[in-house]
Amino acid sequence: MKKITIAIDGFSSCGKSTMAKDLAREIGYIYIDSGAMYRAVTLYCIENNLIDGDLINLTKLKSAINDIHISFKLNVETGRPDTYLNGKNVENKIRTMEVSSKVSLVSAIDFVRTAMVEQQQQMGEEKGIVMDGRDIGTTVFPNAELKIFVTASPEIRAQRRYDELAAKGEKADFEAILENVKQRDYLDQNREISPLRKADDAILLDNSNLTIAEQKKWLLEQFNRTIES
Ligand code: C5P
Repeated sequence: MKKITIAIDGFSSCGKSTMAKDLAREIGYIYIDSGAMYRAVTLYCIENNLIDGDLINLTKLKSAINDIHISFKLNVETGRPDTYLNGKNVENKIRTMEVSSKVSLVSAIDFVRTAMVEQQQQMGEEKGIVMDGRDIGTTVFPNAELKIFVTASPEIRAQRRYDELAAKGEKADFEAILENVKQRDYLDQNREISPLRKADDAILLDNSNLTIAEQKKWLLEQFNRTIES
């Protein structure tokens, strides 16, 4: 059967990763979380003292960017890929509020995006990939056969992120998360390079009132329709 490229973009915390991972597993495709890559670069900046408040040491980051290697390895316990930064598993570390609060600053830097997009395009060379992010359908894979753009209200998205952190036993403050969601929406939509926007040929999905099962069924229908066409 022919393999296609599937791009899933949208606002933060609207369940893109869950739906992309589930779909990839169901259809036997590779799943790549492009947001995890920007999070890993952000973690690198934090751990190497390249961030001071909202200021990033661009000179140092630029000379380090080609030494930042990000990869994914399947975690057999969770059945999902974990993110590795220079060979170290950073899956939990990249999901903290500290990283979330800085990631939109890091992802707006031109040479960071160039480096990540190049790696993402290499990962998708053979097709048979589901990638989620902000600019997958517009910049990374503009020729993707199936593009989905996901959205949900900021309050619903903040609640989902809150539940996710709480389930991991992490202390979470709903108002702080909501603020972070809104701030990232703003920064992601208003940055100069590859701002978050729906590709003209992407299908819009507002999942505010959909269960995961309903969403899964809808997505599989889109996949089957695309494969058959
Ligand atoms: O998807 P996630 O919320 O983990 O992404 C974290 C951040 O990474 C986003 O808020 C955005 O700033 C950035 N990002 C991006 N382009 C992508 C994926 C994520 O700029 N393709």
